[in-house]
Amino acid sequence: MQASFLFLGTGASAGIPVIGCSCHVCQSNKRLRASGLLTVGKKVFLIDVGPDFRQQALTHKISHLDGLLLTHTHYDHIAGIDELRVLKGALPCLLSKESFADLQRRYSYLFAKESISYVARLDCQVLPEETGETQFCGITIGYTTYAQSGMKVNGFRIGNFAYISDIREHSEEIYSFLQGVEQLVLSALSIQSSKVHFSLEEAVQFSKKVGAKKTWLTHLSHAIDHEAASRQLPSNVQLGYDGLLIELG
Ligand SMILES: [Zn+2]
Ligand SMILES: [Zn+2]
Repeated sequence: MQASFLFLGTGASAGIPVIGCSCHVCQSNKRLRASGLLTVGKKVFLIDVGPDFRQQALTHKISHLDGLLLTHTHYDHIAGIDELRVLKGALPCLLSKESFADLQRRYSYLFAKESISYVARLDCQVLPEETGETQFCGITIGYTTYAQSGMKVNGFRIGNFAYISDIREHSEEIYSFLQGVEQLVLSALSIQSSKVHFSLEEAVQFSKKVGAKKTWLTHLSHAIDHEAASRQLPSNVQLGYDGLLIELG
């Protein structure tokens, strides 16, 4: 089946430029908050719906979605959820039970018993385990769980493609989950180590251990200058950028 992945945003939680920052990266790089559009056959899935979703949808003329995959419920991954109200019908959404509970708490009006016609509608499908495979909108989707500052985060796998964001702490089992992945989208925040994200170097080591043929880094902060960092990376690891489309075969 033909599949592709479009990077809608590749920036960290503040995006680039960062409000009020005049560093050289903020003056020359542009990254919206991390999100992607995965097309599998005729099905179109959004991975995360951050605060820049409206702009991303307008730029890439997104008028239809078959489903939403949510990695976790930090602001930079869900704040565009209200924009989904322009879509017709309830949007199937695949997420953990913790993410579902958090969405219900933060966006209670989306789940009100009395249906309000002008809010987004989600048809939530809760992941049954911490790691495994499930059917979602007729497609087999692998999923795994790790933690970011106490919040559970899900990584997703479709065939030989995987999307792993907001990762640092993880168990060794993630390597068996990712075994055979050829194209990996992976988050890396900065040059320096951080408690909750991989640095560039840690992401390179992780990608090596997975053995992915190609890794694209995303969720990048203004500590990373696209050109300067690209020169330092091994040839099979590249920085993603907004609007980059990769064919998954
Ligand atoms: Zn994030
Ligand atoms: Zn800056």
